[in-house]
Amino acid sequence: MRIKKPFKGRRSIGPLFTILAGLLLASPFVLAGVAGYYLFLKDAKKPQVNLSPQADAASLKRPFTITAADEESGIRSLTVTVTQGQRRADVLRRTYDPPRPEVTERFTLEGSELRGGAFELQVAAYDGSLANLGAGNTSRVTQRMLLDMVPPSVKALTPAHYLRQGGVGLVIYEVNKDVTRSGVVVGDVFYPGYKQKSGQYACLFAFPQGMDADAYKPRLFVEDAAGNEKTGFFVNMAIKRRFREERVEVSDEFLAARLPAFAGLYPEVRDPVERFKMLEAQLRRQNDATLAGLAAQTAAAPLWDGAFVYMPRSVVRGSFGADRIYTYKGQEIARETHLGIDLASVPKASVPAANNGKVVFAGPLGVYGNTVVVDHGMGVQSLYANLSSVAVAVGDEVKKGDLVGATGTSGLAPGDQVHFAMYLAGHPVIPIEWWDGHWLEDNITAKFKRYASPPAPES
Ligand SMILES: [Zn+2]
Repeated sequence: MRIKKPFKGRRSIGPLFTILAGLLLASPFVLAGVAGYYLFLKDAKKPQVNLSPQADAASLKRPFTITAADEESGIRSLTVTVTQGQRRADVLRRTYDPPRPEVTERFTLEGSELRGGAFELQVAAYDGSLANLGAGNTSRVTQRMLLDMVPPSVKALTPAHYLRQGGVGLVIYEVNKDVTRSGVVVGDVFYPGYKQKSGQYACLFAFPQGMDADAYKPRLFVEDAAGNEKTGFFVNMAIKRRFREERVEVSDEFLAARLPAFAGLYPEVRDPVERFKMLEAQLRRQNDATLAGLAAQTAAAPLWDGAFVYMPRSVVRGSFGADRIYTYKGQEIARETHLGIDLASVPKASVPAANNGKVVFAGPLGVYGNTVVVDHGMGVQSLYANLSSVAVAVGDEVKKGDLVGATGTSGLAPGDQVHFAMYLAGHPVIPIEWWDGHWLEDNITAKFKRYASPPAPES
């Protein structure tokens, strides 16, 4: 029944309309014929329109995006209007000649002269068909919203924060209204804050090991439902830490033992040393992205209880933050910043969960080999890699000291070990602080007690 019309069809509307209008007036018998004619010309489908975000509050600066699509006759025009009381204003008005199958437009409410309070936003998209006497099919999206022009305010309650490079700090802050997003921004990293039962917000944030102390300028950040943002200063002391250099000799025996596990990858690369370099350069990056993605699966409050534990009777074989240089016959072949601690004991030694938490990853993970990740809440996660066996499954709740697996040589482990790492919001941080009961008490636990304890019950 449908006739595909060229997009240029619109140009002939004027005369067509005149003739049809004349016919319409002339005889009611013609009416049926006219209706049939229009059915033929009709692109029966309405355009698809999508407005995002679909918020019920907006600020003047909040950017909105509209996408509109009509695969048959294309989008001919798009309008956005706002209505508040008796006032009505155009925010956006676009026409497309010729019509386009898909359009995307962005707009803000700046210049709309809206006042704070309720208003209605309407998006209308018209397609290029001759339906509705040439006007085209129309789709409308109407959204009632509140214009909120008052940014939230944020105030740090914890007075000073001493962070050592690679380490973590806790800031507790309060905001004066509901916020949809808050936390600490460090460079291009965002550490989310979590609302506590007491009403205050708590955010663990890091001084990334790869950042200069001079460049380290953490800021509090809050955003309300309308998209109003506020950035807040808080007192920080950044203390530089020196990291080591570690050289790891890659032997032919090592390559012969480890590479078969990666036989399916990079089949075009035959040379064992080149294969090792590919794994270090490419597979490690993919695996790190997987680990960073686990950060979203975190509890809003601490699950840990007291100092974290590490594998008993173990020795440190590789340190955090080390510039690790892999050599083959004495020549450098690859370089990596080692963002965990390698702990070795007897082969297949039992590896305990460092603290209470919930398993969010359990299984093989490329260069990390058999891996377990436990979430401890507020973005804090512990990782156990290079395991020979895994004793837990995703979703398991573990207590401090529970068995998560056994040490091994899976992945690219230099020897039988566990590569242990602590992550905050998906970024590795130095584990020793979490093992240190005094550090934890002074920097985390005491602050929670003092600045984010629930209000005392009324007597
Ligand atoms: Zn390691």
